[in-house]
Amino acid sequence: MKIPKKLKIGSVTLDIKLTHPDNIEGGCGDCDVINQVIRLNSDMSDDMKAFTLWHEIIHAWNTTLEEEKTDAMAQMIVTVIKDNNLYE
Ligand SMILES: [Zn+2]
Repeated sequence: MKIPKKLKIGSVTLDIKLTHPDNIEGGCGDCDVINQVIRLNSDMSDDMKAFTLWHEIIHAWNTTLEEEKTDAMAQMIVTVIKDNNLYE
């Protein structure tokens, strides 16, 4: 999956930044809606970057959804995209 530089999510356009894991709360990625940025751990595999990006997109949509539900939704989206060859 191509990791975009920016994503419009609802009414907000967020920058997508690949960065060192030391700069990320939680290690894999984080979503800062106020500063309009999603950060992804640059050391992760492409599959983990895709999963984490979807996880953070879901957070951007719904900041109150629990982590387990966010993970389950992200995993479902990534699996459907991959199993149907929807990635470039
Ligand atoms: Zn999360």
